[in-house]
Amino acid sequence: MLRMSLRFFTQTRTGELMSRLNNDVVGAQRAVTGTMVTIVSNLVTFISVLIVMLILDWRLTLLALAILPLFIFPARRVARKLRAIRRQSMELNAEMNASMNETLNVSGALLVKLFGREQYEIDKFASHAAQVRDIGVDSAVISQWFFLSLGIVSAIGTAAVYWAGGHLVLAGVFTIGTIVAFGAYLTQLYGPLISLTNAPVEFAQSMVSFERVFEALDIPIEIKESADAVSIDSVSGSITFDDVSFSYVEPEGQPAGLAEVTRLGWGADRGTLLRRGKQQNGKFQDSLAPIHQFALKNISFSISPGELVALVGPSGAGKTTITYLLPRLYDPTDGTVSIDGHDIKDLKLSALSEYIGMVTQDTYLFYDTIRANLLYSRNTASEIEMISAAKDANIHEFISELPDGYDTVVGERGYRLSGGERQRIAIARVILKNPQILVLDEATSHLDSLSEALIQEALQRVMRDRTSLVIAHRLSTVLAADKIIVMDKGHLVDVGSHSELLEKGGLYTSLYETQFNVSQVDEVLE
Ligand code: ADP
Repeated sequence: MLRMSLRFFTQTRTGELMSRLNNDVVGAQRAVTGTMVTIVSNLVTFISVLIVMLILDWRLTLLALAILPLFIFPARRVARKLRAIRRQSMELNAEMNASMNETLNVSGALLVKLFGREQYEIDKFASHAAQVRDIGVDSAVISQWFFLSLGIVSAIGTAAVYWAGGHLVLAGVFTIGTIVAFGAYLTQLYGPLISLTNAPVEFAQSMVSFERVFEALDIPIEIKESADAVSIDSVSGSITFDDVSFSYVEPEGQPAGLAEVTRLGWGADRGTLLRRGKQQNGKFQDSLAPIHQFALKNISFSISPGELVALVGPSGAGKTTITYLLPRLYDPTDGTVSIDGHDIKDLKLSALSEYIGMVTQDTYLFYDTIRANLLYSRNTASEIEMISAAKDANIHEFISELPDGYDTVVGERGYRLSGGERQRIAIARVILKNPQILVLDEATSHLDSLSEALIQEALQRVMRDRTSLVIAHRLSTVLAADKIIVMDKGHLVDVGSHSELLEKGGLYTSLYETQFNVSQVDEVLE
């Protein structure tokens, strides 16, 4: 699952994935540990009893077996029905899981509280739970009817054997003792027979879990290392985008996410996901439609080693998308991205992640200590290196004042810290990694000016001697930038320095007047 692309994760509900990895794996496991064991042990009993019975009297044995079709025919129908129910039930469970997962995390819970939607969430949960319950009852009722009918069939078989046996005893063919022994064996025969009849039914239900696990495992891996990928010892940090276009529409044969895979259904009879995708005109139907066909169109630029390049443009211009292409979170639809002249598709993924450090706007921290979160980028770093990184990121002082210092647990997603503190930890994390290329999204929202100044200072320290690609929100960044790339609606509109671009009086000028001037006021105030 970790090899799946970012696209997969943006289009899959975490809870749905968790449900497959937990419930369905256990469901599939049951087929092996439960059903298979039942089949083997019952088969052994059935065959040995059958041999003894054949030795006792072959005519009565055949009579006892005459009802066999009555066992087999209903079993197939019941299996089909229960299999459909199991699929529905697993899907409902996954839906419930996903929904809980979205509601019961910090951000979800916050939203519920802020909008006073507790009752709505409770009702939603109750309605989901009711569906799960109803479907559970349906399945139990069908199973019980099935067992009941198997019981009746075996009772009929027993009656028939006693009836025929009685006649044979009266006719003096064999003794009452034989018929009593035969009767005892009969229960030993029908018991395993009932279990064996039920085994395919259980198996059919477990198959649903197998399918659901394989649906996830069979999704083609989108971002793959090429077979002859090279690893480079060091990079100087030059970056080139050559006529790069990119669309968030998933490439041919690539399902959008787990939800889509479920919607389309799966079946060994219909071949693999990929093949089925092709059957549908080479495109997975009803995929999550992209907002724009092209998020980037014919983008070309180059960055020299050590340069600071600022990306500016209105919201939705494609700035973030550009930063995603560099560490291969997505591959360009057209064109190439190169680092030091190597097409990044020819580089080992481990090399890419080694040389590129990224600080996103939305800082994610694990529920763990600050130390563990910092060392996540390089777990071999020494205590001194870690502290020095924290100092560079202007966060050491804050951490030292905490009661547990570096061993303070940051809470779920780092929510026990303020936005600015989290951001500085993220910066320290990337400093510790010490990548040659730094990609960062300057966050300015929800930060007070002191935090911002601390972050700004930390960032300037980080960017020194590295190639930096920054989504700029602050005037100081654009002023310091060697080159500013102006983006609009997926197009590269202009490239130049602050003064060059201002002189031209295009989009940059209006951005400067609206976006950057506001930050300038902040800076003056500071
Ligand atoms: P910016 O960072 O300049 O604000 P983005 O690069 O985030 O802009 O987005 C560029 C365009 O791509 C936007 O129109 C946005 O709606 C779209 N987009 C962003 N992420 C996705 C995604 N995962 N799937 C589909 N469309 C997306």
